[in-house]
Amino acid sequence: MSGMNRQGRPSSIDNTAHGGTHSTFTGNKALELEEPLLFELDNPGACGVDLDEPEPFSSRLGNFERQGRIGLASVSEPEVVRHFVRLSSKNYSIDAGLYPLGSCTMKHNPRLNEKMARLPGIGDVHPLQPQQTVQGALELMSELAHWLKELTGMPGVALSPKAGAHGELCGMMAIRAALIARGEDDQRSRVLVPESAHGTNPATAALLGYKVDSIPATRDGRVDLEAFKAKLGPDVAAIMLTNPNTCGLFERDIVEIADAVHEAGAYFYCDGANFNAIVGRVRPGDLGVDAMHINLHKTFSTPHGGGGPGAGPVVFSEALAPFAPLPYVVSGKDGFRVVETEEAAKADGTQPFGRMTAFHGQMGMFVRALAYMMSHGSDGLRQVAEDAVLNANYVLASLKDDMSAPFEGPCMHEALFDDRFLKGTGVETLDFAKAMIDEGYHPMTMYFPLVVHGALLIEPTETESKQSIDLFISTLKDLARAAKSNDKDRFTGAPYMSPRRRLDETAAARKPVLRWAPPMPAQAAE
Ligand SMILES: *Cc1c(COP(=O)(O)O)cnc(C)c1O
Repeated sequence: MSGMNRQGRPSSIDNTAHGGTHSTFTGNKALELEEPLLFELDNPGACGVDLDEPEPFSSRLGNFERQGRIGLASVSEPEVVRHFVRLSSKNYSIDAGLYPLGSCTMKHNPRLNEKMARLPGIGDVHPLQPQQTVQGALELMSELAHWLKELTGMPGVALSPKAGAHGELCGMMAIRAALIARGEDDQRSRVLVPESAHGTNPATAALLGYKVDSIPATRDGRVDLEAFKAKLGPDVAAIMLTNPNTCGLFERDIVEIADAVHEAGAYFYCDGANFNAIVGRVRPGDLGVDAMHINLHKTFSTPHGGGGPGAGPVVFSEALAPFAPLPYVVSGKDGFRVVETEEAAKADGTQPFGRMTAFHGQMGMFVRALAYMMSHGSDGLRQVAEDAVLNANYVLASLKDDMSAPFEGPCMHEALFDDRFLKGTGVETLDFAKAMIDEGYHPMTMYFPLVVHGALLIEPTETESKQSIDLFISTLKDLARAAKSNDKDRFTGAPYMSPRRRLDETAAARKPVLRWAPPMPAQAAE
């Protein structure tokens, strides 16, 4: 039953394939309900509320009055509720199951955080309120800044960046401002970035006009120290290094790297996306880091992944702290105050490079992150890191004989595999990941980091139970066994049981269809 629906999309999954039972009249499969686009549900005249006819009025819009229909779907309240509930049930989430997406730290979002963020007086504050009416909110921001500085051992912090990548931009702009202040901006045009870096690192450096120079990795998955030293010179502005790195490994030479960077007159930007592995155990400030973003939505459990806005505060060393962007919160004898202008900053003795956002950052995420920190305490946060590393090593040790691990020895918070175990099976990393969807798992990170062929990067996080991780491990063992015993069909056609099968991801990215067009009249469509 693989017809096309009115939008020319496959009308339903072919659920007769691969052990499926039979097709249904509706296209629904028990609790899994087919759902058209909202526009296809359009029922002109339907409305969620009864509005009185407006009193006669004369328009003041002149020629700007809309001529045609606005083009939004007309639906009743129950229809709109069902539509979005049905769609939401098609979305995999951390509340539905294990989400092993390496480098993304998809951990449980404690409900206490949500409760705090919704408190009246926190949920309802507005960034344009007079400062004396939001002293509590400012104190909360100041407290969060304090925790971030304590946990990282760094004296300055900018709270406003709204994602990790935005934090990278903020950190690199502070580095540029420091170089300008030293009169060395023109001469320092190169940024060193290891091969295994997240794509946002070279993108950030390139966006600021720096030349990106890549540092090779050693065979054990770390920065090649000699190659790195050979690249240092008077034209280097900074190194952007992730630690633990994206292979899930601690950069053992990090202090030596920091010393060499500083000796060359450059700055050390650390990508702190993997802070979950070391929070409470290692202070990046002690390692010689000058600037580091912290993804509150990873380490400090605020929702993300299509589920919420990110927040990427950046911590700064003594050398860079004066250049941190506006706005920032200070406390004085009259309470808390936001420094928002260059003039106010001058009086405060700082030289901000500018500002990153219109207001103050993601307040709701600040509340959630601080609730997470305070409910765990410093000992609890240390345990977070220890359990995250323990869980990842349990996955690595349990699977390394069935799959293949590119590097010897234990890992940090994520376990990296390559595709050697699939050699000769006709199954590729992508197929393997798709088969995981049929088993009810979100796939792990695939084909990243690029330094490993066909990479599969698994991050279980500390919030999974042993039972949950055991089932996941058994599932991957079963899939690895199936791949090696020639059950290629289970993979190359997967997923069989999802609402949609294999999509043309390249076409979707290159030629996205972003506008809905009304269907053609029936005869023309035939
Ligand atoms: C997630 C991540 C980033 C980017 O963070 P966003 O919040 O997604 O912008 C950068 N580097 C690494 C290593 C990451 O894992």
